[in-house]
Amino acid sequence: MLEMKGIGASAGIAIAKAYRLEEPNLTVEKKNISDFEAEVKRFEEAIEQSKKELETIKSHALKELGEDKAEIFSAHLLVLSDPELLNPVKDKIKSDSVNAEFALKETADMFVSMFESMDNEYMQERAADIRDVTKRVTGHLLGVDIPNPSLISEEVIIVAGDLTPSDTAQLNRRFVKGFTTDIGGRTSHSAIMARSLEIPAVVGTKVATKELQNGVLVIVDGINGDVIVDPSQETIKQYEEKHQSFLAQKAEWAKLVNEPTVTNDGHHVELAANIGTPDDVKGVLENGGEAVGLYRTEFLYMGRDQLPTEEEQFDAYKTVLERMEGKSVVVRTLDIGGDKELPYLELPKEMNPFLGYRAIRLCLDEQEIFRTQLRALLRASTYGNLKIMFPMIATVNEFKEAKAILLEEKAKLQAEGQTVADDIEVGMMVEIPASAVIADQFAKEVDFFSIGTNDLIQYTMAADRMNEQVSYLYQPYNPAILRLITIVIEAAHKEGKWVGMCGEMAGDEIAIPILLGLGLDEFSMSATSILPARTQISKLSKKETESFKEQILSMSTTEEVVQFVKENFHLS
Ligand code: PEP
Ligand code: MG
Repeated sequence: MLEMKGIGASAGIAIAKAYRLEEPNLTVEKKNISDFEAEVKRFEEAIEQSKKELETIKSHALKELGEDKAEIFSAHLLVLSDPELLNPVKDKIKSDSVNAEFALKETADMFVSMFESMDNEYMQERAADIRDVTKRVTGHLLGVDIPNPSLISEEVIIVAGDLTPSDTAQLNRRFVKGFTTDIGGRTSHSAIMARSLEIPAVVGTKVATKELQNGVLVIVDGINGDVIVDPSQETIKQYEEKHQSFLAQKAEWAKLVNEPTVTNDGHHVELAANIGTPDDVKGVLENGGEAVGLYRTEFLYMGRDQLPTEEEQFDAYKTVLERMEGKSVVVRTLDIGGDKELPYLELPKEMNPFLGYRAIRLCLDEQEIFRTQLRALLRASTYGNLKIMFPMIATVNEFKEAKAILLEEKAKLQAEGQTVADDIEVGMMVEIPASAVIADQFAKEVDFFSIGTNDLIQYTMAADRMNEQVSYLYQPYNPAILRLITIVIEAAHKEGKWVGMCGEMAGDEIAIPILLGLGLDEFSMSATSILPARTQISKLSKKETESFKEQILSMSTTEEVVQFVKENFHLS
């Protein structure tokens, strides 16, 4: 038995076998070969093995995941039988006397870039098929396994160095009981997605991939951030009991699912949820969310090979608005960059991606991408209560420019005879310290603010939110952060505007009494945090929390704040 400590990223207990999800090393080297007959044969064998594997995957996908997913593998099988791809590879092996994997790579790269450059969705999809199939055949040629996370069919705990948000999105909740990673923090996007999928997760263990072999039994305790490898019977029993009491606690919280969020002295605040896809709305409603406070639209753009069309986006936004049945939905425009990459945009690699060409910066530059999204949003606006906000706003001019583009698109749509809601509130994320400091100036321009503490803390403390070595600097209760939040709330209220918070801090039990006292109007969090937060808020007095405001803001360290809150609000 071995215990590892990490960061509890998504609450709950999971016990299952480890499944290592590794990005295979498919580096191909050019080699000269003399026996080209044997090399062609080796290539043909790799094709046959890949076909067999794909047949198995396809029938499995058909059974477990439906026709749509299975279709993808039919397309892959077609590629593997296409002489237009196979013959040039064989010719190259013979004419250039090179190894099969190199000949395949050269040929496939040529087709991929040819198809990708065509302005035709069908051909671009074929490029993606060729890329996937080439990966599989190359894996066979090199003797390297290619994992298929979306096809896992027994209960497992995923073990990975890191999980990208799109890896996380593909995890099948029925079989993936939990995950643990070497790197990442509570606010890395894979952790955020684990919470919306309600999969227990421990991130930032540093050593998970070193210590965990495939098939070994693992316990993931996402409540305390512990991972136990090869547990004894006694330990398993202990964690099964912990799992049961977690479920009992959830049942207790669930009693408030249809209740408003009111303090014990009658003050109402809005408890909203953060979502990444239309499917997440189900979890919001099941967990008693009163609104969507942040729809991270970038997930619509991820895990694919090209930008989503206006129609695809319109469908997604309309679905969310309809499912929320008139409750407020704050949609954030594309916030790509940092740990959310879009490989198909082929942006240059940056030294500091979190400080780079991202979010609104990219949207104001690549306006077609931005305008397409805004059109889709405006068209969907009549299906519910839509609010729009822009991410990563650093200057007043950025906000004005983004809003002007939105209004231009609105006018164009109206000129085309489209109906667009008239009352769409337009706000911004406050996640860059510069915008918090001059929130009074922004407050004159916006309808609302949403404080993005995940980034606000990373930028204020100069500590990368993905880096577990500096995760001690993720300090939501640091007086520096609390003072910035106070500046924003006071500036907004002076102009009669409302302020929400959609960073992870909004659902944190130590932060909640402080934020209530500072006057935050809306708390937006992972859906699973809503009911515990509602339970906590129902026991708090707004007046009492307000009475501590000045004292807390004059403290000098996080520790002091934490101790004070724990003592005064009876938290353990
Ligand atoms: C934030 O920065 O707090 C936020 C909510 O946005 P994201 O986590 O998507 O960067
Ligand atoms: Mg952010």
